[in-house]
Amino acid sequence: MTDYPNLLKPLDLGFTTIKNRVLMGSMHTGLEDKAKDFPRLAAYFAERAKGGVGLMVTGGFAPNIVGWLTPFGSTLMSRWQLKRHRLITDAVHRHDGKICLQILHSGRYGYHPLVVSASDIKSPITPFKPRALSTRGVYRQMDAYVRSARLAQEAGYDGVEIMGSEGYFINQFLVQRTNKRNDEFGGEYANRMRLPVEIVKRVRAAVGDKFIIIYRLSMLDLVPRGSSWEEVIQLGKAIEAAGATLINTGIGWHEARLPTILTPVPRAAYSEVTARFRKHVNIPVVAVNRINTPAVAERIIADGEADMVSMARPLLADPDFVVKAAAGKADHINTCIACNQACLDHTFTKQTASCLVNPQACHETILKIEPATQAKSIAVVGAGPAGLAAATTAAERGHRVTLFEANVDIGGQFNLAKRIPGKEEFHETIRYYRVKLEETGVDLKLNTRVDTGVLQDFDDIIMASGVTPRVLNLPGIDHPKVVNYMDCINGKREIGGKVAIIGAGGIGFDAAEYLLHAGHSVSLDPEDYFRYWGVDLDQRAGVENVKPNPGEPRRQIWMLQRKTTRPGKGLGKTSGWVHRATLKMGGVKMLTGVSYRKIDDQGLHITIDGENQTLDVDNVIICAGQISVTDLLEPLQSSGKSVHVIGGAKLAAEIDAKRAIKEGTEIAAAL
Ligand code: FAD
Ligand code: NAP
Ligand code: SF4
Repeated sequence: MTDYPNLLKPLDLGFTTIKNRVLMGSMHTGLEDKAKDFPRLAAYFAERAKGGVGLMVTGGFAPNIVGWLTPFGSTLMSRWQLKRHRLITDAVHRHDGKICLQILHSGRYGYHPLVVSASDIKSPITPFKPRALSTRGVYRQMDAYVRSARLAQEAGYDGVEIMGSEGYFINQFLVQRTNKRNDEFGGEYANRMRLPVEIVKRVRAAVGDKFIIIYRLSMLDLVPRGSSWEEVIQLGKAIEAAGATLINTGIGWHEARLPTILTPVPRAAYSEVTARFRKHVNIPVVAVNRINTPAVAERIIADGEADMVSMARPLLADPDFVVKAAAGKADHINTCIACNQACLDHTFTKQTASCLVNPQACHETILKIEPATQAKSIAVVGAGPAGLAAATTAAERGHRVTLFEANVDIGGQFNLAKRIPGKEEFHETIRYYRVKLEETGVDLKLNTRVDTGVLQDFDDIIMASGVTPRVLNLPGIDHPKVVNYMDCINGKREIGGKVAIIGAGGIGFDAAEYLLHAGHSVSLDPEDYFRYWGVDLDQRAGVENVKPNPGEPRRQIWMLQRKTTRPGKGLGKTSGWVHRATLKMGGVKMLTGVSYRKIDDQGLHITIDGENQTLDVDNVIICAGQISVTDLLEPLQSSGKSVHVIGGAKLAAEIDAKRAIKEGTEIAAAL
């Protein structure tokens, strides 16, 4: 018996069977671009095949040079490239997995001067204006798709995914927003959809019947003048008739101005789109976006919304997602918190992808967790993300670990993060570590602020005592109006209707969101989220004639910083704009170049550009960074103990959970 009978049921495709309903969606890891990284890529896929994933899709490979995403980026266009791909297919097949290669032509989304598209219209998110293809040029692109598919088959892939969504090349032909052609590929919809239909037809003819063709179809463009629902259905039927095996859902072009996969998006918010589509075709369809637990995935299949679920980031976070679900151990799954911090943010800043909660992701051959040669007794001080990662990794390797935590519970600053509307997923990381501490036999001592005496008995000490809020040296800092971010977010203090926030870093933004939403989170209910961001599934592309409706702001907030740079500049590449948009919609006033003078009954006294102002506020929230907690360090070191300092305790500047968990895992893997 299993809790997930529908999710774990095989899917018979006629010529082959997928062992369950889990598809690992395509993610560009950065390892696709260079031949030397293919052994690492193969190890990464092998780990997920071993973990029971039914079908995987690689990151995107361009079918030719003009389709590159980045200069000299990943392509599959020549036979000499096959050897490296066989490393992947062999590794996956050794573990009884299946894998498709994604063919991704970036069109005008490419970051290089050779870009081509339906018309010469530049995208708002990339710097290069594309060259409009001639009719013959369009046919040449089709030939390139066919060539890539044939090569993929020769390399041993089980199929290909033709990327037809997220605003890439094929999408650019489908909609009038980007297609102004007047040849057989422009004008009425039957012409605009000719390109994808012909590609699927020709690929099918080239690869025969026993090869999977997934078509990723943009079901909801989320950009003005995108596809109508009728066009989406028309395309879906034509793609089925052209010979596709599976249709995967695409939601939103990259230039859409609302979050579609980030943590403020409710779980499975878009599965209804796939459900509506599924009624119109006879081949299996795949639901996507913010599906991160087996229970959510099971519900989607059980309710008949889709035949498979695509999970990409959740399988970076835990390669054993499927085997754990099958073994009835869903609470052991390391859940993706949809932060994008180590996956997409890395990809967009040209770093190899990884995962905030699982630093081994894409680093399987580099960060190895192996049994310790000699079991030691290890004390870990602090059960924040750094200490939790260190303690569980060390215990997993066979060390005897005692974890001391001064608070009543584990989690450190994650206990604040989880209270921010839109960050509810942070609860899952704390749950994961709670289970893992138990599983690995860590001796957890809560309510225990250790001192140096207790620590003398251990072979090694890992100091993960974290950070504490910086106290400002400002007249009036003791005024009753002043609240530090911990007391504010913990709800320990009543906060008034007019608030100034000192500090515009990650925590300042989070405190503003906490105060703005006043306990309500639009991230828990798709209807709320759609209303907030302005999505209506019955309108063209989901956004035509709809406006965001954030409601009346619940507080008047000023957010201040001393720097003159854009507030929130240091926030994530793929998340910063969402946080900035949220605060803008909430009417938060951003002030930069501020000097703070004093706080008194009148409010916060500041100077900007030499002019004095007084912000008449009820409260001043201090989010002015943190300092490391290191009081035990010096005495321990002078007593000759072996102390390893990690996380915020090591360096408070720019500490985030990504660094904290990585450092915790790395030190424990090395002891
Ligand atoms: P901490 O989390 O500070 O944990 C240290 C622990 O040590 C504490 O539990 C403390 O009680 C304990 N301790 C200290 N001294 C002793 C002692 N002597 N004995 C026993 N125990 C002791 N990061 C991100 O990456 N992404 C985010 O989206 C994000 N959002 C955030 C939102 C908020 C509101 C906040 C406050 C933080 C957020 N962070 C985020 C930052 C992230 O939580 C921290 O970087 C991370 O928690 C640091 O981990 P740490 O283990 O080093 O320290
Ligand atoms: P931060 O990002 O470094 O921001 C600190 C803020 O305080 C800055 O705006 C700074 O601006 C101000 N400040 C610093 N010293 C000051 C002083 N002496 N007087 C007045 N203002 C001062 O740090 P944080 O906001 O505390 O966040 C800590 C870490 O948590 C960050 O590194 C971040 O990565 C992580 N985090 C991430 C997220 C996320 O969504 N990814 C969310 C929350 C937290 P000025 O110096 O210009 O005044
Ligand atoms: Fe998920 Fe964040 Fe890991 Fe990306 S980095 S896979 S979003 S937990």
